[in-house]
Amino acid sequence: MTATNLPLAARADQLVGSVIDSSTSLLQQQTHDIVRFAMGSPADDAVPSQILAGITETALAPDAADAYGYAATEGDPPLREALLATLKGTSDETTEDRLTITAGGMQGLDLACKLFVDPGDLVVVEGPTYTNGSATALSYGAELAEVPVDDDGMVVDALPAIAERAGRTPKAIYTVPTFQNPSGSTMSLERRHQLLELARTWGAVVIDDDPYGMLRFEGDDLPTLREVGEGDPLVFSVRTFSKIIAPGLRVGWVDTAPELQSLLINAKQAMDTCTNLPAQRLVSGFLEGGHLEKHLATQREQYRKRKHAMQDALQEHLGDIARWTDPEGGFFLWVTLSNGVDTQELFETALAEGVAYIPGPAFSPEGHFSDALRLCFATTDAERTREGVRRLRRAIERQGES
Ligand code: PMP
Repeated sequence: MTATNLPLAARADQLVGSVIDSSTSLLQQQTHDIVRFAMGSPADDAVPSQILAGITETALAPDAADAYGYAATEGDPPLREALLATLKGTSDETTEDRLTITAGGMQGLDLACKLFVDPGDLVVVEGPTYTNGSATALSYGAELAEVPVDDDGMVVDALPAIAERAGRTPKAIYTVPTFQNPSGSTMSLERRHQLLELARTWGAVVIDDDPYGMLRFEGDDLPTLREVGEGDPLVFSVRTFSKIIAPGLRVGWVDTAPELQSLLINAKQAMDTCTNLPAQRLVSGFLEGGHLEKHLATQREQYRKRKHAMQDALQEHLGDIARWTDPEGGFFLWVTLSNGVDTQELFETALAEGVAYIPGPAFSPEGHFSDALRLCFATTDAERTREGVRRLRRAIERQGES
């Protein structure tokens, strides 16, 4: 029996896979040497595994059986406390009644869509966007519309025309406002205000997905949408430790209006009861030990150097046929080719040449950006990056010949 013969829910039709996530297993299956620009994870050398191992000795000691129990749905109290203290005085400062610990950023996105998106609702996403986010909205039956992104982030001015074309206003607007995945661009302060004003007029929720904000290595901090919104119940902020500590922990948090708390808890209880407790204990140990600030300072410096190394390599090897973005933080460069090569078709050749990236259309529910690709600069050192970009050039040339 194929899945189509099963009595599936209508929403199963809207479960689209993630090219981004699938590349993890695809790359794990490759046995030849590949320079990996594909995944958006911290490099192995950026994961504080030694510190985490030290925390394990006490937090997960042989007699710490309580660390393996169920946690409170809203999060383990020590982690909640440590997180509130960590965020104090930052643009993401929050309070007891706004905070829920989640299983990474993805669960935050799922909770947002579960609470706000009905089948047929219009949800605006950025073009390009983080398609795991748009896929979450789709899984609740959303109809998506893409709004362009430029060097100042989402082109908020384009939103009214999108609503007009759709014949209705959006129910939710999904944005990655800071060091966007995949473009690396950051929404300007003016646009942040403009977006919230429009969302208020429409009564649309703004899903503010900001996993990279703490990874600024150049330029000046901007207030988060959460701060610009000053506690507006229509701003649903999704955060994660995946990029700043380690993604495999699967720990994140959401900051939402106090009036949403009990609904959030109900939704999370119907999903996973609570977030993995041993992982929460590791994260709280990391925060309580005061490690985060130093760790972030080291990472920022590392990522700054790696971004420049990648841009230099691009200039040297692809300067004549490509342009790319200049993010002030985060993990990604968005490269646009001007020689007509289709980056989806190029992928196999690139893999054979020993370099992996994510093709542009993977970031567009409408399938745009076949001339673009996302490169993660965070994972590879300067020399390896140069080699990877050299291989990319070779792949493009081979593709052009065929
Ligand atoms: N949002 C964005 C923009 C991301 O880049 C990611 C991770 N790639 C996530 C959410 C998901 O975060 P997590 O791994 O914590 O679920």
